[in-house]
Amino acid sequence: MNFGLYIHIPFCRRICAYCDFYRGVYDRARAEKYPAALGRDAQNFMNNYPVQGAADTVYIGGGTPTVLPSGELRAALEMIKKHIPILQGAEFSCEGNPESFTEEKAEELKSLGVSRMSLGVQSLSNKTLAALGRIHSAEDAVRAIKRAADHGFSVSADLMLGVPFQSEADVREFPFIMRDTGAEHLSAYMLTVSEGTALYDMVKRGEFTPDDDRSADLYSAFHEAAQAAGYIRYEVSNWALPGRECRHNLKYWTGGDYVGLGAGAYSKVGLTRFHTAPDIDLYLKEISRITDEVMTEQELAKEKVIFGLRTRFGVPADVLTQAGIDAGALLQKAGKYFTFTQNTLRIKEEYMIVSDGVAVEYLL
Ligand code: SF4
Repeated sequence: MNFGLYIHIPFCRRICAYCDFYRGVYDRARAEKYPAALGRDAQNFMNNYPVQGAADTVYIGGGTPTVLPSGELRAALEMIKKHIPILQGAEFSCEGNPESFTEEKAEELKSLGVSRMSLGVQSLSNKTLAALGRIHSAEDAVRAIKRAADHGFSVSADLMLGVPFQSEADVREFPFIMRDTGAEHLSAYMLTVSEGTALYDMVKRGEFTPDDDRSADLYSAFHEAAQAAGYIRYEVSNWALPGRECRHNLKYWTGGDYVGLGAGAYSKVGLTRFHTAPDIDLYLKEISRITDEVMTEQELAKEKVIFGLRTRFGVPADVLTQAGIDAGALLQKAGKYFTFTQNTLRIKEEYMIVSDGVAVEYLL
């Protein structure tokens, strides 16, 4: 069975005010050693978890993969490919930020076979971008989207909802501007304020007050506008022009296997989920994997149900059976939230935004 390949690049030029991903400020000495460590990681992975088939999706995420100097991604991919086969024609995505997605970088990524660029736009208001600690302007972001489209990448743009100084008009115009600039895919995430971030300190000082109700209203406004601009919501936080869904992410939501390489990267093979230690210095010295869980078949099926309900594709009847869920009984108890047609359980459109809460209440 084929699998997804995720490669984590944990370097950024500057740390954004809200970020709690595993990443650090770019440092040349560490970054230069990173491709060789990824090669060792790939070898270690195949020795311990000899996955069958080949990667039919590849996703380079971070961090900010576009901060790596020219040549480093190529070196990393060459070392990884010695151990992990990648299918010809695989979907190949790379994340990047507008300020480091230069003309030269676009050409380099194209020559590596990258087919899809996911760019962190986050907002088209310079006031909001400054409050979030982003180092690009709205104009830089629009230029980067256009550059990616002009180079023939399938382009995705990220937006954050519920952030400082954001108006409903901002989120409503976003999908139209992105569509007209060339983005075929949009992701929109509601802000979460995590302890240890600069934003958390701003909240503590009373400079910003997160408001979940307002975020939910902004989400609804964004969804309406994205639909009007021609994007179809295929997962709670993802919209795409027809046929432009991200196949790599669909693997996470349908219980597929994925190989995660890099410091702090997560993997799932069969019923086991594990990750490497989120510690770059340790990673450069040795590869150590930590097992998070070994699921039963039924637990994996339950997970497929929870994730499947976040998508417009829903959950097929055979997965419900494996998860021990009786669709008839569920509809009697909570028919307000679900539809069951063509042997598939789906959450109703209007409850998509609360799909996790509904799943926890009725399915766990
Ligand atoms: S660029 Fe992305 S990964 Fe890096 S600090 Fe900002 S949000 Fe985090």
